[in-house]
Amino acid sequence: MRLVLLGPPAAGKGTQSARLQERYHIPQLSTGDILRAAVEAGTPGGLAAKAIMDRGGLVPDETVIGIVSDRLSEPDARGGFILDGFPRTVPQAEALARLLESQNLKLDAVIELKVDDAVLLGRIAKRASDSRAGGASIRSDDNPEAFKARLAAYHAQTEPVAAYYAGKGLLKTVDGMAPVETVAAEIAKLLDIAARSAP
Ligand code: ADP
Repeated sequence: MRLVLLGPPAAGKGTQSARLQERYHIPQLSTGDILRAAVEAGTPGGLAAKAIMDRGGLVPDETVIGIVSDRLSEPDARGGFILDGFPRTVPQAEALARLLESQNLKLDAVIELKVDDAVLLGRIAKRASDSRAGGASIRSDDNPEAFKARLAAYHAQTEPVAAYYAGKGLLKTVDGMAPVETVAAEIAKLLDIAARSAP
């Protein structure tokens, strides 16, 4: 199963990816996680990305396309994967299509989690206050200003990616405001249908 999970920040992509990973035994590839690890490791690429990430902007396409291309060539991604946080722009989606095509591979489905902005803003405020209360560290881009920038980047640059996949007949949209279990069940149902109708 080769999947892309699309959705605004705090839509629940991480939660649903973890379930899909278990259900289909395929790795979750999160460009956000890989970039944060590069920041942590202090690599030159990581340091350049940090300033952009902290203000909620998008890291250049060439950087993330390189990351994904490297990650997809690792052995555990051969049997399938869940891409979480990539593609975020139409050029990234086109690069992914070329990458897969060169290996005679295809995406099985693109799942889009739909959540209203007001609900997302409420979730992020709660996430920050829960972390503070629990003494956990808060992601440096989980402050109101950076979050608004991430949301704006989603509307401007990633929503066209949903349209791109809708045009290819791959997009399945799920109500991300339903309870976690309901969202998971809905995704499983859509993927079972996609698997049955695959050529
Ligand atoms: P979220 O989905 O909660 O916004 P992520 O962990 O997916 O967070 O990403 C965090 C940050 O990493 C993004 O705001 C962006 O700066 C950078 N990033 C991650 N994936 C990409 C990508 N595909 N293209 C450009 N920037 C990215």
